[in-house]
Amino acid sequence: DPAHQPNPCVAPVQTGPFFAVKVIMGDLGTFDGIQTSVVGEVLRRDGRPIAGLYAVGNDRASIMGGNYPGAGITHGPNMTFGYVTGNHIADRAGARA
Ligand SMILES: Cc1cc2nc3c(=O)[nH]c(=O)nc-3n(C[C@H](O)[C@H](O)[C@H](O)COP(=O)(O)OP(=O)(O)OC[C@H]3O[C@@H](n4cnc5c(N)ncnc54)[C@H](O)[C@@H]3O)c2cc1C
Repeated sequence: DPAHQPNPCVAPVQTGPFFAVKVIMGDLGTFDGIQTSVVGEVLRRDGRPIAGLYAVGNDRASIMGGNYPGAGITHGPNMTFGYVTGNHIADRAGARA
């Protein structure tokens, strides 16, 4: 309320009824994680892939390289690389649609 001064965001809480919501902290996303190849194969420390083990989503190291530049950096890469990884696995199984 811009008309409320001195602070338009904070006003006295005086008249009930009052309601409360319990807020529990959770992770929104990650910007680091398991190192993978482009197609999502989990890599050993020496860079060799572990056969048959894949990582996608927040479990996988972000292409943002340890930075969080803004909203959208999780869903976009998660969907894109999830699609790439899914197609790779389907190709290997000879099951791509
Ligand atoms: C409030 C909020 C707002 C957000 N806004 C944005 C946004 O605007 N833009 C954006 O890009 N990102 C946003 N994010 C982040 C984004 O939603 C997450 O980064 C993304 O959903 C992570 O996808 P994921 O598949 O890695 O993990 P999740 O979506 O967490 O999927 C993991 C799944 O595994 C399941 N699971 C867990 N343990 C087990 C188990 N033992 N067995 C079987 N299943 C299991 C869980 O139930 C869950 O369904 C937001 C997140 C929050 C919380």
